[in-house]
Amino acid sequence: MTADCLFCNILAGNIPCQKLGETKTVLAFSDINPQAPTHALVIHKTHTASLSETNENQLLGELLGGARDVAQQLELGDYRLVINNGAAAGQSVFHLHAHILAGRPLKWPPG
Ligand code: AMP
Ligand code: ZN
Repeated sequence: MTADCLFCNILAGNIPCQKLGETKTVLAFSDINPQAPTHALVIHKTHTASLSETNENQLLGELLGGARDVAQQLELGDYRLVINNGAAAGQSVFHLHAHILAGRPLKWPPG
């Protein structure tokens, strides 16, 4: 728990979220500003600031596998998984998270 971290506060129950799924290691909830009909965020229960700031491959496996399991449970069909790494890449919350986007055609390349 990092006291000034938004997602740690969601994990602690101090800030509400619309929960979509949970395992021993990850939590999935709806993005407050959805960019697709389904826009879920998947976070690990252990705080780490960003993808490039962790060497914990087990944590990364749990995050990626958790995202796959949530997508399967929600029966999303095709979906996009996004990790923004660093402010210039669009990261605004520095608790590592994966976005799951689904429910509309998704163009490539992204903006
Ligand atoms: P990123 O820009 O990749 O760091 O993603 C952070 C995401 O968190 C953004 O898509 C925000 O819309 C989302 N977000 C910010 N505050 C909340 C919140 N309280 N509950 C759910 N999602 C949030
Ligand atoms: Zn955190």
